[in-house]
Amino acid sequence: MAGRALLVTTSSGVQWHLGRVISRRFENPSAVRLELDVPTWPGNDAGAHVDVRLTAPDGYQASRSYSLASSGESTRVVLMVQELPTGEVSPFLVRHLAEGEDVEVQGPLGRFFVWSRSDTDRSPIQLIAGGSGVVPLFAIASAREREADSSDCRLLYSVRSPRDEMFADELVGLTRTTVDIVHTRQSAPGFQEGGRLTRNTIAERTFAASRSPRVFVCGPSPFVEAVTGWLVDLGHDAARIRTERFGGSS
Ligand SMILES: Cc1cc2nc3c(=O)[nH]c(=O)nc-3n(C[C@H](O)[C@H](O)[C@H](O)COP(=O)(O)OP(=O)(O)OC[C@H]3O[C@@H](n4cnc5c(N)ncnc54)[C@H](O)[C@@H]3O)c2cc1C
Repeated sequence: MAGRALLVTTSSGVQWHLGRVISRRFENPSAVRLELDVPTWPGNDAGAHVDVRLTAPDGYQASRSYSLASSGESTRVVLMVQELPTGEVSPFLVRHLAEGEDVEVQGPLGRFFVWSRSDTDRSPIQLIAGGSGVVPLFAIASAREREADSSDCRLLYSVRSPRDEMFADELVGLTRTTVDIVHTRQSAPGFQEGGRLTRNTIAERTFAASRSPRVFVCGPSPFVEAVTGWLVDLGHDAARIRTERFGGSS
């Protein structure tokens, strides 16, 4: 693709930007952390996402949404992509997109599923992630850390096994978020034996409805549907629950 300074405004008013991969590294055996330099990036709130568009030599295009692990005013944009082996786009991003290559991103997108430092609500924040759904929730936890936000915050992170975790080192370093990891398939020394989340897990390991937390739930669609159902059943106000569905059949 020619030229570096692509910046196209679409009919929706959200812009396409041209980014360059400045770093890529495997986060775990099936997920890659991509750092892009996007000179025209306007910055983004924590929790927002982009659409990534790939163009084949014959002009065929495919685009998918990816949450931003980064936030703030930097032009450095960080994505974390989990490979779906049968998928069209994620295997290319995980296995083939190389440092120095360009990629188009549209955004920032998603005004509802975000945390902003200008938010005056000081009620507790409950983050609940399934698998790669941890990406925007990590961004929220990191932004709160950076901004020294004083709200109580908990992250419940459901992931298959320790080797599948994302942001493992960074999560350990968080001082303003209590991180609780549940392993659904296997355990390791020092980690609690998990199992899939249930209504009881939600009842026992998240803020009670009586504290009126703001709740962010993100992950595969069936995970989000199940968790939000239990939250409402446990008395949470549906209007306080924000969701982001990554796809997959319900
Ligand atoms: C707002 C938003 C943010 C997202 N952020 C991220 C992110 O940060 N990291 C990330 O890795 N992915 C994220 N996704 C998912 C991403 O957009 C793609 O759906 C995913 O990478 C699969 O694309 P693909 O082209 O490889 O698979 P496709 O060719 O689109 O799909 C292949 C098969 O997998 C199924 N499938 C699609 N998505 C999922 C899923 N999430 N779980 C289970 N089965 C699925 C499809 O139904 C299909 O059968 C996000 C999705 C949304 C809507």
